[in-house]
Amino acid sequence: MNSTIEQTPLFTIESQDPNSMARTGFLDLPHGRVETPVFMPVGTGATVKAVTQDEVADMGFRLILANTYHLYLRPGADVVSQFGGVHRFSAWPHNILTDSGGFQVFSLAANRKISEAGVRFRSHIDGSAHDFTPESVVELQAGYGSDIQMALDICTPYGIDHAAAVEACDMTARWAKRAVTRRAELTNESELFASYRGELFPIVQGNFFKDLRQRSVEQLLELEPRGIAIGGLSVGEPFSVFTDMLAHTAALIPPKLPRYVMGIGTPEYIVAAVEQGIDMFDCVFPTRAGRNGGVFTRHGRIALKNARFRYDEEPIDTNCDCFTCRRYSRAYLRHLFIAGEMLGPMLATRHNLRFLGKLLEDIRSAIRSGTFTALAATVREAYPPRTGVIDSTENTENRV
Ligand SMILES: [Zn+2]
Repeated sequence: MNSTIEQTPLFTIESQDPNSMARTGFLDLPHGRVETPVFMPVGTGATVKAVTQDEVADMGFRLILANTYHLYLRPGADVVSQFGGVHRFSAWPHNILTDSGGFQVFSLAANRKISEAGVRFRSHIDGSAHDFTPESVVELQAGYGSDIQMALDICTPYGIDHAAAVEACDMTARWAKRAVTRRAELTNESELFASYRGELFPIVQGNFFKDLRQRSVEQLLELEPRGIAIGGLSVGEPFSVFTDMLAHTAALIPPKLPRYVMGIGTPEYIVAAVEQGIDMFDCVFPTRAGRNGGVFTRHGRIALKNARFRYDEEPIDTNCDCFTCRRYSRAYLRHLFIAGEMLGPMLATRHNLRFLGKLLEDIRSAIRSGTFTALAATVREAYPPRTGVIDSTENTENRV
């Protein structure tokens, strides 16, 4: 316990790394306790693709993502609400964090029009017209029973000018204020949501301008949030720009608040984020790569389809304790992918998720024992951060 940092009912800091901003702690959420730092698997449409809810829980995960935009379009918020939320609908008894839909509206939907009121867009599925407002998105997420909601935000791409970034930053702050107001009203005024206990995190924007990152954090802190998300990073910028902007932004957020960086999920990004005091992250990359035969090992990432694994009797990683590595060889997995068998994506997904789950367990114990710096160096050796622009197939679209 770090006695110098004030604790909140949501977030307790347990230990602090003496050599970096890294810390361990736990979140006390409506569906149970979650240890931090934590990687959250993405279950966009109320399913972490290719694995069952029991498998996700067995791997140790207690907090996963679902997505407001996707569930709103399919199956429809009314269907999920009829079940009392995503937990019962999808048979997942643990915690759920829901993304606000802001990122998806800006990356997937067509013909979007932003106004002070909210955003009007057309579905990427059937072209139908819809409106999201900061208030309606809070109501949708409450209907899903979300344990941690995100406020509707405006995501801007890497490379926009300062004036456009100011506009998006300020509107995101005004929308966050409306979301916080609506969140309070829901519990106080609506019988339907009287027992709803979900948290609401606003999202820091400000593009890649340090003055605007500061402005955004200051605007959001006025709302007295119990946690803060950092959005708009890992959207195609070089790794060094990512780490620089993350360090700048994270340091502005009071230590007592859980900090969540949206859209990162590879070992080198996770280590860089933990080092800056980030407590939560998510990304579709581990599951998406797994479905395509890309798997993590402690010596770096490998492609299971590679011909060099044709006769390989070793598991993906001899140190991994996952279901896949306990039973199957690289040769068999390669065969499944080459033959287009659906078991291949299922087994590779299980490995990648457990690999990251185990990495986070190792990170937490290293922070507690004061050896995080050494662990981070080992991870960087196996996963050297790229110096150029990030491959667009890897860390972009990561909030989808
Ligand atoms: Zn494994």
